[in-house]
Amino acid sequence: MNQKPVILIVDDVPVNVQALAVLLSDEYFVKVATSGGKAIELANQDPSPDLILLDVEMPEMDGHQVCGLLKSMPKTANIPVIFVTAKDTEVDEEHGLELGAVDYIIKPFRPAIVKARVKTHVTLKQQHDRFAAIALKDQLTGLYNRHYLMEEGVARIAHAQRHQQDLSIVVVDIDHFKKINDTFGHLAGDRVLQHIARLIETNKRKEDIAARFGGEEFVLIMENCSLLHAGEKAEYLRQLIEASPIDGIQVTASFGTAQMQEGITDFEGILKNADDALYKAKESGRNRVHMYGEEHYG
Ligand code: GH3
Ligand code: MG
Ligand code: MG
Ligand code: MG
Repeated sequence: MNQKPVILIVDDVPVNVQALAVLLSDEYFVKVATSGGKAIELANQDPSPDLILLDVEMPEMDGHQVCGLLKSMPKTANIPVIFVTAKDTEVDEEHGLELGAVDYIIKPFRPAIVKARVKTHVTLKQQHDRFAAIALKDQLTGLYNRHYLMEEGVARIAHAQRHQQDLSIVVVDIDHFKKINDTFGHLAGDRVLQHIARLIETNKRKEDIAARFGGEEFVLIMENCSLLHAGEKAEYLRQLIEASPIDGIQVTASFGTAQMQEGITDFEGILKNADDALYKAKESGRNRVHMYGEEHYG
């Protein structure tokens, strides 16, 4: 998969758009907009631009306003913006850079310079994205890592509270995993972890978060999901894992679930409850699901 980087060209004068598009379309996938409103719309659509070339002087919304808006929205805040403009005073340039633009190109431009600057900023953006993705993910399984889980967990809880929605957490811990390592070796153990991670990842809802929490422990954050529902999901995964040996190795896992509830509305609190439930699942024989507080429901 070697797709071209995506560049969004914004200028109210079609001829200007055309000139840049011709210059860049060999090396880049080019999107074009002739108004600020359209630019905002395209910047938010996939494929997300790796760079925006933004004219300053446009009717209705000018380039500075567009840049301010882009920088205020999470989905577009990290897209580098280069202003392309006929305004050539140092004050103009300073203002553009203050708004968060990475560079400033004066019209009429020299094609080779535009190409070189575009290339530099696209490369930086792609490096940034790569490092950001690595920092969020667990290397062995490709799931999110613990660091991401803790940050995203707090954000998801705030969202669920604001919208008065349910939120549940499932903690998964492989049973007797140490024995699997001891019997089949550490590399086989790694393959088991990858296998379980894939089962979890491919059987969760798209909007749920699956993370590797530690060695052989995984966590699922399920939005819009009651404790009962999370318990059913956990039971489904439990059966799936039990029925899917990998390299001839039979694996089982234990599950603890908990939900956001009165008095327990912080992520660590819910996680602790799910962990307590997991402990009960282990204690009562492993390869089972325990829902936090279920003993009180009778
Ligand atoms: P229980 O059923 O009580 O959960 O027992 P367990 O053996 O699964 O739990 P324990 O915490 O005693 O052992 C976890 C093991 O997981 C020990 C550790 O060596 C192993 N482990 C942790 N990270 C990795 C990893 O990245 N790869 C492999 N192969 N093993 C790992
Ligand atoms: Mg213009
Ligand atoms: Mg464990
Ligand atoms: Mg274990």
